[in-house]
Amino acid sequence: MSRSLPSTDTAATSSDDLLVAHGLRRTNAARTVVDWLRAHADSSWTHAQLQESLARDAAVTMDRVTLYRLLDRLSEVGLLRCRVDAERVRHYQAIVDDAPSAPHFECKSCHRDLPLSGQLDKTNAELAQAAIAAIQALQTLGQQSLSVDLAVRGICGDCAPASKGMAR
Ligand SMILES: [Zn+2]
Repeated sequence: MSRSLPSTDTAATSSDDLLVAHGLRRTNAARTVVDWLRAHADSSWTHAQLQESLARDAAVTMDRVTLYRLLDRLSEVGLLRCRVDAERVRHYQAIVDDAPSAPHFECKSCHRDLPLSGQLDKTNAELAQAAIAAIQALQTLGQQSLSVDLAVRGICGDCAPASKGMAR
C-alpha cells in the first residue's frame, strides 16, 4: 500500500527560493517567519503565539501589524494555510510539499490544535489519499492553488470534565 503523496523534491527548499517562487520580496522578516513556520509545520499558530515564539526562538521582535500583513501575504500566495476558529481567531500553518494538511483535532474549549496520531495513523493516510484524489480531480478541471483542511473539532481529553482520556 503506497502512500503516493505528490512529493516535490523534499530536499529542503530554502525560504529564499520559496519567496522568490511566490513573487515575494526576500526580507529578513519574511525569511524568519517562513523558516519558523516550516520548522513547526505540524501545527498551526495564532498571531500572538507566533509573535511570542519568534521573539523567543529567533530573537526577532516583529511589529504586530507587520506580522499580520506578512502572514496575510504568505497565505495569499499559498505558502501558509490560514484557518479561522470558532472564536474567529486565525491560525497559520506552513504548507509543506503541497500535501494536504495533516488531519488534526481542534479543542473547542482550550483551542489547542493537535495532530491526529497513534491509532489514527491509518485513518490519516486514508484521509490524505482522499484529499489528494479530490485535489487532483479538481486540478484536471482547471482549479488552481487548491488546499484541503481536515479538522475534527471537539473537546480534548484535558478539557472534558469526567474523562480520564487515554494516553496520547
Ligand atoms: Zn482542550
